[in-house]
Amino acid sequence: MKNQEAAMDAPVALVPVVVAEPLVGVVQQLQALFSWVEAMLDARGVEARVHEDLKEMDRKVMQACIVRKAAQAAAREIREVRCLRCEMGEEDEGWALLFQQSAPRYALTVRGRVDFQRSVFRCSNGDCRRERAPFDEELGLSGKGHMTPLLERKAARAGTTHTSYESAAEKMAHQVELPVSAKEIQRVCEEVGDRALALQDEEVAERGRPASWDKPLEAAERPETVVIEMDGTCVMGRDGEGHEVKCATVFGLDARARTGSPGKERAVLLRRCYCGTSWGGPSLRVTIQYQTRIGMRKGWRNT
Ligand SMILES: [Zn+2]
Repeated sequence: MKNQEAAMDAPVALVPVVVAEPLVGVVQQLQALFSWVEAMLDARGVEARVHEDLKEMDRKVMQACIVRKAAQAAAREIREVRCLRCEMGEEDEGWALLFQQSAPRYALTVRGRVDFQRSVFRCSNGDCRRERAPFDEELGLSGKGHMTPLLERKAARAGTTHTSYESAAEKMAHQVELPVSAKEIQRVCEEVGDRALALQDEEVAERGRPASWDKPLEAAERPETVVIEMDGTCVMGRDGEGHEVKCATVFGLDARARTGSPGKERAVLLRRCYCGTSWGGPSLRVTIQYQTRIGMRKGWRNT
């Protein structure tokens, strides 16, 4: 047989290996893959097969590791944990008692979906009853979300570097080979955006600025995050054709402030600049980039 001859041309030694029980299936699959490659007459199709099999093994290894950590956590037999909401209250009380020992849960990781079971605790305070799963917190899973922080970062990155959430989802499926829906990417982008806003708010509050119109930021101090908001419409030109017109406003997050008397406060921007499409002028993208750089260097004037 030709196949056997090919394999015998360069015999491969077999070496006994000690493997932890949760990894036995993965190692067997790896060995099966290698045997398949050995039996091939040439390298055609080898890359695709190895890639597909490794993806599945990737996922299995991730699942084995996470399931193992969940089992270790369960073995500690913890009966109660602090309730995060009640702990922060004035009473400083509120314990969450073991509610479900092996509640099923899944996580979407950068290596695919992983299913596991973990303990869920429920606050004993009748007004609260909030549930908490410390193991989810260790994995970085938020509330009902399933994405791990590593995957979230990839989704957020895809969402902010594409023109639509749909094309971001396509990119994720094709390039990163992680199927994430456009809706999920939108949710992640909005959540990550909210977190960034909250963080920036904290930083601004710590520095004590910007306080008001009277105390604007010094020009030397540059905003860390620049926001570009834009909208567009179609207007009829004198040539009888419809033209897409876009306008944008650019500002630093720390240029946000509030004005007005208590109870009648409204949000204002201390500095900003405007850009728009202009006939025969540079493209809107160039204008925005230019304005952003100038604005960050000089400090914006309110217009
Ligand atoms: Zn509570």
